[in-house]
Amino acid sequence: MQIHWAPSPNYTGGRRGRKIIAIVNHITAGLMPGTLSWLRNPVAKASAHYLVTKTGVVYQLVKDEDTAWHAGIVNKPGWTLYDGSNPNYYSLGIEHEALAGESLTETQYQATLELHRMLVEKHKIPVDRNHIIGHYYLDSVNRKNDPGPGFPWNRLLNDLVRPNTGDSSPKIVIEAGNNIINGFLHEDRAYGPVREIATTLGWQVEWLNEARTAVLLPPADEAENKSNTARVVIASHSITITILGDMAFAPVRQMAEAMGYKVDWDGENKTVKIR
Ligand SMILES: [Zn+2]
Repeated sequence: MQIHWAPSPNYTGGRRGRKIIAIVNHITAGLMPGTLSWLRNPVAKASAHYLVTKTGVVYQLVKDEDTAWHAGIVNKPGWTLYDGSNPNYYSLGIEHEALAGESLTETQYQATLELHRMLVEKHKIPVDRNHIIGHYYLDSVNRKNDPGPGFPWNRLLNDLVRPNTGDSSPKIVIEAGNNIINGFLHEDRAYGPVREIATTLGWQVEWLNEARTAVLLPPADEAENKSNTARVVIASHSITITILGDMAFAPVRQMAEAMGYKVDWDGENKTVKIR
């Protein structure tokens, strides 16, 4: 990917021997070009390693090997990996050009996804919500909307854990009811998100965290037809699901058939149809 070097003086050389364990995502609450100038202004005493603009341009302001000043003052942190020392030394900071409350543009999302992918690979950062975090994890008081509720955590983590993207990782489409759901192929099997498929078909999903089990409850009218067997149907099929990011994925055919639906595979259009 193309990264534009735009050095900032606001950093500490080296990392005091600490290893990079996390990426901290931010929003700038300001727009280009002022927001880039500010992060390069010594008066700001703030920076980030990267800035991703709304148009998908990626700037690097501080080298990964050096400590950017992005974490600010830690205040009532929710981050379980926070060890009391300055998080700047063991994290990378990515700023996103956005005003408070704004979501990323699609181009910006794709750029930050590619950047995350590169950094996760380079620094062997685990893909989960403890290692890819928001500034609010470090300051839940003054930064509670940084990067804000619109930040696409689920999408980002799911995209990151999928084996590559694009051509090498075949995407598929799942037609369920009147909805289209994105899935993927893995070892010749179509996988789809359990909750999304189930709720689209009108089922309820209960997640039992300790048992790591999703219990699917049918819609009221189907419950009547199938009397009280639904829970058993699903339970007796006990499908192994895969957790990617914080979403559960199941083989689509196995899951839908266990729920009593018919499943067709349209190989030409890479589409699974649930009827
Ligand atoms: Zn921030």
